[in-house]
Amino acid sequence: MISEIESQPDARGYFGRYGGMFVPETLMTPLRDLSEEYEKAKRDPAFHQTLQGLLKDYVGRPTPLYFAEGLTRELGGAKIYLKREDLLHTGAHKINNAIGQILLAQRMGKKRVIAETGAGQHGVATATVAAKFGCECVIYMGEVDMKRQSLNVARMKFLGAQVVPVTAGQKTLKEAVNEAMRDWVTNIRTTHYILGTAYGSHPYPAMVRDFQRVIGDEARRQILEKENGQLPKQVVACVGGGSNAIGIFTAFLGDKETGLIGVEAGGRSLEPGEHASRFHGGSLGVLQGTRSYVLQDEHGQIMNTHSISAGLDYAAVGPEHAWLRETGRAEYVYATDDEALAAFRRLAQVEGILPALESSHAVAHAIKIAPAMPASEILLVNLSGRGDKDVKQAAEFVGMDLLG
Ligand SMILES: *Cc1c(COP(=O)(O)O)cnc(C)c1O
Repeated sequence: MISEIESQPDARGYFGRYGGMFVPETLMTPLRDLSEEYEKAKRDPAFHQTLQGLLKDYVGRPTPLYFAEGLTRELGGAKIYLKREDLLHTGAHKINNAIGQILLAQRMGKKRVIAETGAGQHGVATATVAAKFGCECVIYMGEVDMKRQSLNVARMKFLGAQVVPVTAGQKTLKEAVNEAMRDWVTNIRTTHYILGTAYGSHPYPAMVRDFQRVIGDEARRQILEKENGQLPKQVVACVGGGSNAIGIFTAFLGDKETGLIGVEAGGRSLEPGEHASRFHGGSLGVLQGTRSYVLQDEHGQIMNTHSISAGLDYAAVGPEHAWLRETGRAEYVYATDDEALAAFRRLAQVEGILPALESSHAVAHAIKIAPAMPASEILLVNLSGRGDKDVKQAAEFVGMDLLG
């Protein structure tokens, strides 16, 4: 079973019945070219050497594995460890994937890169690597997201990217993806699309996972060293498209005693339109290149979504997560807006760490389950990003007085 999981996806890009290549004919050739180039790069020691060098000196890897002593003491249960992806250059795990993909773009001779972004973290990561490699960069972002993440818009602009506001539909991530795909079809010869999560047509879900699996590879090594060979009882990560979660899960797939828990955005409630929990209200469908769990109505129309965190506010989930859930290897739960916000405040006060609101969903679940776990067990939480981008919104949300 495990080896079957590890050999996913198959040659056609399927994880069981999930995944695949649901794209217009015009995108099949560039996607095949990308797959081929990626397969070549995987076998090229020079590619790995360049990537390792950049991850170390530019991105800031390895990230620390931190024992959250204060939170552990307060909760009185399992030992909580945080994988500190929040300490990476640009402030989140997204840069791991962006740096890998810009190296592929270089190999393919593409000097223009485009990306979609929700919270702006992937846009910032893409604008960053584009600046470093001297590439032209266009970022598509929903108008609503641009307003709630204006700091990241300014960062992208200073980095030299053009940020294109997307005004269609709900004006968030899904519409931004549509615009990025439209651009890619039009400019295929010069342009590489740096997709930001473990989603979309094959080969993106597998490729993004491979670029993110460094998180789990490091964390597994680090925990074994710190805890004298003991593995975590549970590994917890938030799930938007699913890249930080699959990045930390992959290294533990073969460790049958280690549970894997993905945390989706429970939003205001589980009423349709009030959340982004695809596994609690979604069904099998096709959206933006892949088959997976999708929040849709009975006619297949994509439902509106809501989350306090823009990075989790998306109507579909990466196909490998749908597969891991179906096989029972991972479970998927949700945390509400209020629970995430409470976790955001608690981690700040107890540990002096402001987590991203996305990551706060994982912390919220850890807060729920740690007290009932014995003190001898380990709970590993992926802290996917830092909360600087979210403080303004969180302050508004709690009605903080910033002048008094
Ligand atoms: C984008 C983002 C996420 C959600 O994306 P995944 O692909 O599911 O990881 C989570 N945390 C942070 C900090 C992000 O920026």
